[in-house]
Amino acid sequence: WKKINVESRSKDELYEMEMTFNEMIDFLKESYEKQEVFVSDASHELKTPISIVKSYAQLLKRRGTGDQELVKESLEAIDSEADRMQKLVEQMLSLAKNKQDREKESVNLTPLVEQTVLTFQKAYDREIQFKRESDECIVQGLPDQLQQVVYILIDNALKYSQGEVEVELSGRDTVIELTVKDYGKGISQKDQNRIFDRFYRVDKARSRDTGGTGLGLAIAKSITEAHHGELTVSSKVGEGTSFLLTLPLSQ
Ligand code: ADP
Repeated sequence: WKKINVESRSKDELYEMEMTFNEMIDFLKESYEKQEVFVSDASHELKTPISIVKSYAQLLKRRGTGDQELVKESLEAIDSEADRMQKLVEQMLSLAKNKQDREKESVNLTPLVEQTVLTFQKAYDREIQFKRESDECIVQGLPDQLQQVVYILIDNALKYSQGEVEVELSGRDTVIELTVKDYGKGISQKDQNRIFDRFYRVDKARSRDTGGTGLGLAIAKSITEAHHGELTVSSKVGEGTSFLLTLPLSQ
């Protein structure tokens, strides 16, 4: 911390200092407000699974464990709500972790994307087409975080569509482009502006059923920005959705 001696400053300098100071205040205020919204949204999201777990536990305490059907139903609900809380907490930590400054390294996206595609193909038994322009698509970054972005985009494409999913990796001059395209329900123009917001889900009930938290795309966007890239969406309701991830190519 350095103390500023304002007496020796000219009027212009003082004016400039005032402007800088006000900009800093605005920035801090905005960060603080964002933090407040995040804490309030996070508490809200955690409240539902907590109250479901609690009500099943109370039900079992009241009725005892004689009714096997009820015991089974309660345990399944408690287990799945605990999974949900775990996922929420992991994703919230992941958002915080993205802010850490870690040493970036050269990452070849081709095998990274290919591996992720293969993992999903095996796990979900769904058709995922993978097109690549080259066996080497190198970017500077953190491999685990880049993999997380690819994972989120493919996971969403599979979750929100029934048909084939297409993944394409290509290099253009100074950037690498990854497209993840599906032929699912699509996203309206209005929702396209909000899907990258934390906890935003187009169809809350449906997304909850598929294990959605509304944090995936916020995480993907935050990682992309930390890699000086861009993540955009283009979609038509009833036709499908395409996400485009652009990252600077490492020469
Ligand atoms: P979630 O955990 O709910 O999937 P995301 O942040 O990953 O959260 O996505 C936010 C919302 O954007 C989803 O709830 C869904 O409504 C919508 N969405 C994301 N990807 C797609 C897609 N490929 N097709 C249609 N809707 C999508």
